[in-house]
Amino acid sequence: RFITLEGIEGAGKSTQVSIIADRLRARGRSVVTTREPGGSPIAERMRALLLDPLNRGMSDTAELLLMFAARAEHLEKTIRPALEAGTWVICDRFTDATYAYQGGGRGLDPERIAVLERLVQGDLRPDLTLLLDLPPEAGLARARVRSGAAADRFEAEAVGFFSAARAVYLARAEAASERYRLIDAGAPLERVRDQVVAALDAFLAE
Ligand code: C5P
Repeated sequence: RFITLEGIEGAGKSTQVSIIADRLRARGRSVVTTREPGGSPIAERMRALLLDPLNRGMSDTAELLLMFAARAEHLEKTIRPALEAGTWVICDRFTDATYAYQGGGRGLDPERIAVLERLVQGDLRPDLTLLLDLPPEAGLARARVRSGAAADRFEAEAVGFFSAARAVYLARAEAASERYRLIDAGAPLERVRDQVVAALDAFLAE
């Protein structure tokens, strides 16, 4: 089974990835945790290219293609072998993030993303996607606490970017509601954890 976690900055995805993995392992499942962009040695090198501030001027189309190049590598080296071996894969971000960030945030046509999704993934889609939803202002405030940085001009621009990304996430969750579980990630961490565990347990009971 293939579980993904999605959400904008500061949603707390990585904490919840560990919680899910621990709970599945306690129930005797074999689990790998991974992330995007990245998740295999070569895909992690592509991640470094994508996140390098020196590459901030990268063309939006190049960014989109590099995201899918990293995903192709991640699928072939990490995700598909694990799923074929019966191992559960818990992934911090996947293709929904491309629709949200490159589609919503950067304004790329979702049809172009869908073409690449089909090319790179074939029919493979997550079995369950937990969308950790919260307002961008709250997410950025959390990310700021983590990095110790002060609010700046970049952050003012980021609110618009993440609002667009959030809107795409919510629209996708609404359109394909059987795969998604909406989690209120603006709640205190203990409450977020409870919602995630409840969603996971319901999925296990299906
Ligand atoms: O989730 P994580 O914080 O590891 O993501 C790393 C960075 O990659 C984030 O700053 C996010 O904005 C960016 N990203 C992106 N497009 C994606 C996935 C991640 O711009 N499709």
